[in-house]
Amino acid sequence: MVSRVIPVEPFDLVIIGGTGDLARRKILPALFRRYLAGQMGKGSQVIGAARTEMDTEAYRQMVSEAIAEFGGAEAKNKTGLKKFLALISYITLDAKGDTGWEALHDAVQTDHVRAFYFSVGPSLFGDLAKRLQKHGMADDQCRIVVEKPFGRDLASARELNKVLARYFDESQIYRIDHYLGKETVQNLMAVRFGNMLFEPLWNSQYVDHIQITVAESVGVGGRGEYYDRSGAMRDMMQNHLMQLFCLIAMEPPAKFDPDSVRDEKLKVIRALDPLRPENIVRGQYEATETRPSYRKQVENRDSTTESFVALKANISNWRWAGTPFYLRTGKRLRERASEIAVVFKDAPHSIFGEDAGRHRNILTIKLQPNEGIELGVTIKEPGPGGMRLIDVPLDMTFAEALGPDQADFPDAYERLIMDVIRGNQTLFMRGDEVEAAWAWTDPIIAEFKEGEPPLPYATGSSGPDEALALIHRDGRAWREIKA
Ligand code: NAD
Repeated sequence: MVSRVIPVEPFDLVIIGGTGDLARRKILPALFRRYLAGQMGKGSQVIGAARTEMDTEAYRQMVSEAIAEFGGAEAKNKTGLKKFLALISYITLDAKGDTGWEALHDAVQTDHVRAFYFSVGPSLFGDLAKRLQKHGMADDQCRIVVEKPFGRDLASARELNKVLARYFDESQIYRIDHYLGKETVQNLMAVRFGNMLFEPLWNSQYVDHIQITVAESVGVGGRGEYYDRSGAMRDMMQNHLMQLFCLIAMEPPAKFDPDSVRDEKLKVIRALDPLRPENIVRGQYEATETRPSYRKQVENRDSTTESFVALKANISNWRWAGTPFYLRTGKRLRERASEIAVVFKDAPHSIFGEDAGRHRNILTIKLQPNEGIELGVTIKEPGPGGMRLIDVPLDMTFAEALGPDQADFPDAYERLIMDVIRGNQTLFMRGDEVEAAWAWTDPIIAEFKEGEPPLPYATGSSGPDEALALIHRDGRAWREIKA
């Protein structure tokens, strides 16, 4: 079996915002796991940088605690952790002032790939880019990684792109959407473009409709203030769901390289019909006996921000005209479960008669909580009872097929950070893609202000009843939200 660890050259990774929540929960544990996998070559280093005053020893202690909390089973590897911590240092740095920049310049190694992970709010992106250049760090070997939200509308995303373009070439900018780093999302491309079986059927002649669900069971938690300014449309739909949507709907790219893939994704967004108000449903979760309502949690009793959104989208091109895409995402739903379901049309004629019932092939790409791909096929129910048909899943879950070692794949952040070091932008969003996604969602969000407030829905439900009606009126049904 070929080793899955592709070596990378030694690198410097600077986490700006290195004391923040994202750094502690995701970035540092991901780096630790890549270190254990042998992917941080000799001479690599990680520099945490943030406004907080602390020294390297205190930072290493913080990293060690973060890994104990969020590092999973590998966190028990004390020897590995000790060696990993030796690669880490800390610099107090102010994005808006001069503190720390000379020290950072002296600490990074000029003969290494240097990645600067902007793990701070987008209002600081411009300041950081400017100072990296001013202090001589924005050369060809430098890459920057920026987190969502990339703007809150088209105008602000354009502005951000413009500011970053002043200091960096597009090939140096890595806009993260961690959904694209999921193993299954890449496998979706392998299944589509690596097999003869699916691609000929991947169009409106054979596909009845496609559903994308990203359901969370938790509420807004401690992010209330941020979330209430954003809502499900901005926080999830405009980025994560749209990205999944593009990958499932795009034409086969000529090559699996960054620009070929991103060109095709962009074409999907540009071919989307404008969304009509009757094709969108917004919701807001209500209180239970033990859990507060959305409005209570965000401390805004008049909030009209949605914690749930469902919509029906149509793509006007040869492949998809006539096949609707139903997308929904929300908080406090029945379960934490995310999937894409490609629902194929009925066989044109049933030779088995009415009693055999209606059977459809459904290809399900599961993203959360477990990743895997499943194909529902119709077979004869075993036994002597005549020709009765049942649907059974052909389970392509990787653990089964590949064995436990091969299925122990890196999480999205591990893969994406390593792609930054390798200089592979395929799984990152290009500036024009992000702008096109905002251009489609902006008018929808503008409607929200004018239109009705979000509809209430019960915690633990599948969203407001109107979201069920959105698909029922087309003679279809949402799939059950289940893990
Ligand atoms: P956070 O508030 O926990 O951390 C922010 C970090 O930025 C801290 O280290 C802080 O010291 C640093 N910082 C703030 N002002 C600074 C300045 N002037 N100079 C230098 N450093 C400064 O935020 P977070 O949750 O870690 O999120 C960081 C970014 O990532 C945000 O844009 C957020 O939207 C995005 N994001 C976060 C998550 C998550 O799970 N936390 C998920 C997706 C995207």
